[in-house]
Amino acid sequence: MGKHLVLVGGGHAHMVTLANLHQFIEKGHRVTVVGPSEYHYYSGMGPGMLGGTYTPEEIRFATRLVVERKGGVFVKGRAVRIDPDKRVISLESGATISYDLLSCNTGSYVPSSTICSPYMPNKDIFTVKPIEKLMDAKKAFIAKLSQNRLKTVSIIGGGPSSAEIAGNVWQLAVNYCTMNSTDSDSKNIIADSKNFEIQNSHIMPCIKNMIPQINIFAGKKFMSNFPENIRRMVVTTMKNRGVHIFEEGYVKRIDNDYIVVGSGSRYQSDFIFIALGIKPSDIFKESGLPIGPDQGLLVNKFLQSTRYPEIFGGGDCIYFKDSPLDKVGVYAVRQNPVLFHNLMACLDNQPLQQFNPGEEYLLVFNLGGGYGVLKKKWFSLKGRPAFIVKDLIDRKFMKEFQSIEE
Ligand SMILES: Cc1cc2nc3c(=O)[nH]c(=O)nc-3n(C[C@H](O)[C@H](O)[C@H](O)COP(=O)(O)OP(=O)(O)OC[C@H]3O[C@@H](n4cnc5c(N)ncnc54)[C@H](O)[C@@H]3O)c2cc1C
Repeated sequence: MGKHLVLVGGGHAHMVTLANLHQFIEKGHRVTVVGPSEYHYYSGMGPGMLGGTYTPEEIRFATRLVVERKGGVFVKGRAVRIDPDKRVISLESGATISYDLLSCNTGSYVPSSTICSPYMPNKDIFTVKPIEKLMDAKKAFIAKLSQNRLKTVSIIGGGPSSAEIAGNVWQLAVNYCTMNSTDSDSKNIIADSKNFEIQNSHIMPCIKNMIPQINIFAGKKFMSNFPENIRRMVVTTMKNRGVHIFEEGYVKRIDNDYIVVGSGSRYQSDFIFIALGIKPSDIFKESGLPIGPDQGLLVNKFLQSTRYPEIFGGGDCIYFKDSPLDKVGVYAVRQNPVLFHNLMACLDNQPLQQFNPGEEYLLVFNLGGGYGVLKKKWFSLKGRPAFIVKDLIDRKFMKEFQSIEE
């Protein structure tokens, strides 16, 4: 008899399963996919979308469309609890969905409540995840810049997402200010930046005066988890663009328009991004499921809950018991074929496959202005070539998954 497979979240780790959804239906099973949005946005291109390199349409996958075309049911909503004994998930709306087999790819969130209250009267505070927030941020940023009400932008966080946001906010401001200036030489130079790297020396002093001050509040040390040569490349790029990096301690709280640092100093800011790092979705902790030290769903080598064999998971929301993984999209993507195989194998009573995290992954940061920093093992690269590598990889990834929509 057919079973009911429920996928919670249409993230990076579910792409192959979504592409092959029809195979479950052909075998007589039902498939339901639950997600808060009809689209899934690729976070690797999120900062580039903020900077204007990509449009929102270029970085998203039409989850609802694909699910329905493949014969599944898409439920727009957010799962808030799993009852593993009754095999039921509850949604924020109060609706419930029962399952025989469940796979979770609910990602991660920025724990912003540690420094700001949800009732903050200043609306110009944006977390870097979910990526949809960066679309709202871009609109608000342009609106404020166009009204000449944007003098200082702050990014709270000292890791790569903070660097990517700072670099792409700089690109957004440079492009906006140039396009709205009366200086035709500047316009020509920036128009060329589609093909060339934008260097600070390209920007006319009159434009530089219009660009808001960008500040990074990096805790004790910016990019501290990276080798010194990579850290230096990122710091130099930021400093060349006039970005201030504060390393005087962690931000304690946001107090209206002020950022309050542990040292007691207060810094005025007109626009704030929160890039404090990410935590796995808290649905598993709330549901009393076995979790790892980071509160992610505790899974074995088959990406299967250590206590409930009918629950699987992938991406940022899991804690891989055998060898804890970094929260990067690369692992979510590598988990795709194993998750698909194991969901199918579970329904067919076939042996499960083990997930092997694979070799050290390639890291490329998009620092805006057509400039990247790349790291793979001992090898590093900076500048336009590094940006081109990331751009090619990311566009290929999106093309592959958007082709499922056709
Ligand atoms: C600014 C930024 C840049 C990054 N750049 C890179 C990069 O270049 N390369 C890289 O490898 N990694 C990058 N990362 C890390 C990357 O974002 C994550 O590792 C990746 O998104 C994990 O994929 P995921 O599918 O697990 O989660 P997500 O991409 O967060 O997807 C989770 C999905 O689940 C849905 N969802 C969430 N909660 C629920 C719920 N309760 N119920 C139902 N559905 C839910 C969401 O809507 C979303 O569609 C970046 C992160 C940030 C913040």
